[in-house]
Amino acid sequence: MPENPVHYFKTEEQLPTSIDVAIIGAGLGSLSAAAILAKKGLNVAILEQNYLPGGCTSSYLRKGYIFETGATTLVGLDEGMPLKAVMDIADIQFKAEKLKIPMLVHLKNGQIITRYQDRNQWIAEAERVFGSSGQKEFWEQCFQLSDFVWNTSVKQKKFPPQNFSDLLYCAYKSSPSDLLNARFAFKSTFHLLKNHGLHENPQFVDFVNEQLKITAQNNVYEVNALFGATALCYTNYGNYYVHGGLIQLVKAFTDNIAINGGKLFLKTTVNQIDKTRNSWKLTTNKGDIIAKNIISGIPVNNLARLIDEALLPAFLQKKTMPVNKLNGAVQLGIAFKSSDVNEVLHHQIHHDLALGFKGSNSIFISYASAKDNKRAEEGITVASVSTHVSDLENSMIDKELFKEKVIEKLQSVGLLKKEDIAYTHVSDPHDWQDWTLREAGFVGGYPQFKSVLPWQMIPARISKSLYACGDSIYPGQGIPGVALSGMLAAERLLSDFN
Ligand SMILES: Cc1cc2nc3c(=O)[nH]c(=O)nc-3n(C[C@H](O)[C@H](O)[C@H](O)COP(=O)(O)OP(=O)(O)OC[C@H]3O[C@@H](n4cnc5c(N)ncnc54)[C@H](O)[C@@H]3O)c2cc1C
Repeated sequence: MPENPVHYFKTEEQLPTSIDVAIIGAGLGSLSAAAILAKKGLNVAILEQNYLPGGCTSSYLRKGYIFETGATTLVGLDEGMPLKAVMDIADIQFKAEKLKIPMLVHLKNGQIITRYQDRNQWIAEAERVFGSSGQKEFWEQCFQLSDFVWNTSVKQKKFPPQNFSDLLYCAYKSSPSDLLNARFAFKSTFHLLKNHGLHENPQFVDFVNEQLKITAQNNVYEVNALFGATALCYTNYGNYYVHGGLIQLVKAFTDNIAINGGKLFLKTTVNQIDKTRNSWKLTTNKGDIIAKNIISGIPVNNLARLIDEALLPAFLQKKTMPVNKLNGAVQLGIAFKSSDVNEVLHHQIHHDLALGFKGSNSIFISYASAKDNKRAEEGITVASVSTHVSDLENSMIDKELFKEKVIEKLQSVGLLKKEDIAYTHVSDPHDWQDWTLREAGFVGGYPQFKSVLPWQMIPARISKSLYACGDSIYPGQGIPGVALSGMLAAERLLSDFN
């Protein structure tokens, strides 16, 4: 029987008056930084406005079912990947089930593509669906670039470089072949397709665009080839399922942080940040706290509202993306009788439905495992269906229309039977804004734009003693991305602190 996640977390009541590091927000970025710093012996306080930690990677109880707040797919637990690296440094023990098939993609023409993890199997599948010309060469190049990105991400602790000494460090950690790979940051993913003659295959371009939308938040023309290749190979690394929902991953982090003396304060909203002579003063609804250092785990759009503009470096204002460049999401939570649940948990379904708002041309459904009795009573399964919303300021979401059209579509591709549905609810950008306070309810992180090269993204050090992590900071969106950003913020702070 599902248990209410509120019981997993012990919130401290009395704010300390002073602390080494105040961490704003308890998203996965913040928790990664907090876990490393607490393990290294720093006095850490995490201030989270919600009644549960995790932000967009969390789970909540509704009508007896456990639903995910955002993220449903989990990558990053393989050796050498950032999430695993953070967990190794902090000694976080965690078990997740590796998925046999990471994802199915349902094209508009009814064809179904199996996103095998095995690279050769995947190439054969891509050739079956899109024709053999250029596929093998394209995917081999993507694998090579993607491996390069993952291999360098954890060792490049001072990326993006902020001064000459960072640059020297980055150069010292690089090999000549790294530079050859790095040049793909200047090319678009479209260029990669063109290299292999795939840009004139409309079905393949559509496929790539929808896959990029969920992993890099943009399209073949905007996502650079380096990040594009990494995003496209998402399913070629270990994809994992967490029994009980991703809140269990969050719990593994908060338990570890507590063991190492870190403190979590829930329902504690940071409303203002001021500079004192040698420290920072954070004003919260539970009182003030003086911190030698701050790590902000909230989007920089939100951070800018808490702090006097004069205390922030000019680069931050320049690099903060306006809401009209960001995406939100609409999500349908469903509980249904699990008589014949699809064995593959994640499906992307391409469509041409008129949903009444601008976004993507696909929906993404993630089922809980049918064996997972921590998320619903026996015989019932839960699922989340989500899609993008662009033009956040002008989009009005008709939740009923969205629900109706999505259920019809799922039924038409054989992924759900209307008569099995026991419960539904729909969340839109206003709900995410309530849950996380994120500006205009934008989620999924900063989209990739070709005008922003990886080394031009917002670095983890905002200024001395003020650091940032999360999905508006390099390297951007997704659990592996924010885990890396948290690790980089912690490393920067440690090297300045010592
Ligand atoms: C629908 C959806 C589907 C997604 N799917 C996937 C997926 O399948 N796989 C994947 O890897 N990623 C996915 N993502 C992206 C991923 O969830 C996020 O990129 C990641 O969780 C963001 O983490 P974060 O640490 O940047 O911030 P957040 O999760 O936003 O955490 C920030 C925290 O700060 C708190 N906070 C905000 N303001 C304050 C304040 N003033 N004081 C105190 N606390 C504050 C918030 O309550 C929140 O808990 C998805 C996101 C969504 C929305």
